[in-house]
Amino acid sequence: TTFDSFGLAEPILRAVTELGYREPTPIQAQAIPIVLQGRDVMGAAQTGTGKTAGFALPILQLLMKHANTSASPARHPVRALILAPTRELADQIFENVRDYAKYSGLRAAVVFGGVDIKPQIAELKKGAEVLIATPGRLLDHVGQRTVSLAQAELLVLDEADRMLDMGFMPDIQRIINLLPKKRQNLMFSATFSGEIRKLAESFLKDPVSIEV
Ligand code: AMP
Repeated sequence: TTFDSFGLAEPILRAVTELGYREPTPIQAQAIPIVLQGRDVMGAAQTGTGKTAGFALPILQLLMKHANTSASPARHPVRALILAPTRELADQIFENVRDYAKYSGLRAAVVFGGVDIKPQIAELKKGAEVLIATPGRLLDHVGQRTVSLAQAELLVLDEADRMLDMGFMPDIQRIINLLPKKRQNLMFSATFSGEIRKLAESFLKDPVSIEV
């Protein structure tokens, strides 16, 4: 397989080529076509497998292909929300997404706790179709009305097992309740406890399982 075979838009392919990615990793080969079909995904994958591009590239493609048609006054409303357990992971995902989105006209932003909230508010004001966040700080922003999730079409829970271990379950539930009901959901986890399965059943619709 090559990246060409997925039917990704030229601005996305150009970014991938520039990064030196020559062929998709196994999780990318599985995940990209399924995400492009609009299906929910339950992915078993560790970091280092190329998981980030596996969800980020098809998400960018979907956002490019389907213009946001709402009457939202925001020029760059949040259309995809990616939740991660730690600031390090959130920042890493952000940097990858920013690289992949470089020629797409889509913007990305990241918010996480433990740092001053003001620069994040300034970034959110500029808008971002793809928002990467840790759960607690995202809820702070929602509470301060510095971000709206009313236009979110896609939700990704990355490293869901770690988010549960860190006690983020109530925050995740609150965030899910703020999102439109009609949306695509992707969840990635390295391990599959009963609790993880319960979370998956509670918000994934007819998910395709991917394992690498
Ligand atoms: P991840 O598992 O998403 O954290 O990715 C691990 C590393 O692999 C990152 O540095 C990516 O930039 C890189 N990577 C992801 N996909 C590919 C690919 N298809 N070819 C080469 N490198 C890749």
